[in-house]
Amino acid sequence: MRICDACGNPKASNETNKAMLCPDCAVDVKTEIKKLRQEGKPVNALHIAKKLLKENHRLSDIRIRDIPEDFKKTLQHRATDEGISLRELHLIALYQYLGQID
Ligand SMILES: [Zn+2]
Repeated sequence: MRICDACGNPKASNETNKAMLCPDCAVDVKTEIKKLRQEGKPVNALHIAKKLLKENHRLSDIRIRDIPEDFKKTLQHRATDEGISLRELHLIALYQYLGQID
């Protein structure tokens, strides 16, 4: 399970040029890639996905202070082991806690 880089949902199943995308966003990113290539411009799927995320979704930050250092290291090691970012690990854990994914 991965977090879609373009919408933040835990439904990413498609890796397109280093961007993890859900099926809906994959269509949008591939359309933008095609357009950029036709214009002879450089293509970076992850940048396109992040741009779509910022354009189409209201974003917010959560800061968590006073995390025990050992627990923080456990989180960082888990993220590294799974090949995901700490942000993704937190989002997946929160989606699971809310019962929105298995
Ligand atoms: Zn998506």
